This record gives sequence, structure tokens and C-alpha cells, in this order.
Amino acid sequence: MMTLTGVGTLGGLTVLAAAKLAPGQADRSPHRNGSAWTEPVEISATPAPPSATATGMLPPRQEIISRYGAQTPHYWGLHPESSWSTFPTGTSLARDSACLTFDACSDSSGYDERLINALREHHIPATLFVNQRWATTHRQEFESLVADPLFEIGNHGSNHRPLSVSGRSAYGIAGTKNVAEVYDEIAGMHTWMATNYNLQPKFFRPGTAHADNVATQVSRAMGEWTVMFSVNGDSGATADADQVYQQFLQLRPGGILLAHFNRPGSETAAGVERALPVLIARGLRFRRLDEVLPATTSPEQPPPW
Ligand SMILES: [Zn+2]
Repeated sequence: MMTLTGVGTLGGLTVLAAAKLAPGQADRSPHRNGSAWTEPVEISATPAPPSATATGMLPPRQEIISRYGAQTPHYWGLHPESSWSTFPTGTSLARDSACLTFDACSDSSGYDERLINALREHHIPATLFVNQRWATTHRQEFESLVADPLFEIGNHGSNHRPLSVSGRSAYGIAGTKNVAEVYDEIAGMHTWMATNYNLQPKFFRPGTAHADNVATQVSRAMGEWTVMFSVNGDSGATADADQVYQQFLQLRPGGILLAHFNRPGSETAAGVERALPVLIARGLRFRRLDEVLPATTSPEQPPPW
């Protein structure tokens, strides 16, 4: 299990030091001593047999409610157990690569074409977490992203709700109230993607990136790991271009960065355009989450950490 030892702030932005530095790479993080990760996770050496969800079939709703409905969570926030915020340290990719992830949240505020074009120009693969309401109001843009092999599409929920089994909220947004609602929040977008595009999302990011540790187990049992982040790239698309640039430069090998592509009026793209050439010049390589994280295993199997 991963444990955070510290969270720093820089200009109001959350900064988490990434897992490991490449040999010889200086850590320019101002929070080097206060926010190092403890050693994250090792992947199980023996791959578990495929879970029922490996075929793309979701487990029945009632089965999930029976299994998890009586469990009480002991954690609420950004980094619950059974979620990933960095690469597993067991992978060689953690030495030289990082993941960029971009969310499209539930509102229909738009499509940041400039940001997506910057990724395409630099041939940067990324995982895009898309909410169902955004996808249905931006169908044409969604289809162009699905068709682009640079991008992997993750599940950003049906209604963009924080993932709680007890009705917790985050930033004033009410979370799901119980296991049944957690199931629906994941299954709605999963089923929409599978039905319309034959896609089986492997990763889930809850609205507001808040979850409890029972909800993350539900997500896992449904075949989707919950994925959080180690670097907050744009503070919910509210950061100015210089803050975005500075935040992106905090990304280290093994890290997972979160930013947004549904706010074309924000300064995210301007910051990303400046940061990408610097990160590339440092030798950082970029991967999609599906290249880095293991497949979910059946909940009967021991967890991979
Ligand atoms: Zn979101």
C-alpha cells in the first residue's frame, strides 16, 4: 500500500514529490525533504488469473452490493488504498517515464483544442479521463480522441461525483451515497463507452479525485483501477500559465500528472506548451497508464502491492 509522508504547497498548488529520480537527475523540488514518497508498490511477481471483468463484462450490481455494502471506510481523500498515484516501483519504466493525464469534467464548458494539439505536435501519449456528460455533449471531439492512437480514454464517471460509499462531499460537490451509487457512477460511463465505441476503460478517476477506500475496492472489482495523481498540473484549470509551467516541471520519473482539457478559456494550454519542450529536453519519456499499471486482479487475489 502507498503512504504519503507529506504534501507541500507551492503558490496554492498541491505538490507531491514523485517516486524516484533517474540516476544523475537533480531534484529541483522545493519540498525534497518534506514530501518524499515512501517506497510505493511492487507488482506481484505472479500474474493473477484474469478477473471476470477482463472480458469486458461488469460484475452484477447486486453481487457488488452484497460484497461491499456492509464495509465501513476509514479514509476519505486524494490517495486511498487500492488506487494509484505513481507508477509501481517494480517497473523499469519508473526510472525514465511519467504519465500525463487530462480530465474532461462534467460541465460542457468546452474542448481545449490548443492543449490537445500541443500533445499531438510533440507526439506525447496521454490518458484522457472523460466524463459521460462531457462525452455526450462533445461527441465529435470525443470521437477524434478515441480514434487517435496517442490517447487512451479513461472513465471520469457518469455524473462526476466524488466516489464515496457514505455520502461524503468534496469542494461542495456531493459524493455518491452508497455502494449502489458507486457502482452506477462507474458503470454508466463504462457501459456507454463499451456500447458505442467498443471501449473497455481500465482506469477510473472520480470527480474531484476524491474517494474512500471501500469505493476504490469496488472500482477495482469492476475492472477499473482508481487513478489519482502525484502532481497537480493546473489546479482544476484555475492556474495561470506560469503556475502551470512550474507545476509541470515538478513531474519526475514515476509520476502521474493531472490537468484538464475541458477549459479552453484557461491558461493550461499556454503553460503546457512551454513545459513540454523542457521536460522532453530533460529526457523524460511519456507513457499512457495502460503501458504502466498492471491489470486489475480478482478481489480474491492478493493485491499487487
Ligand atoms: Zn473532473
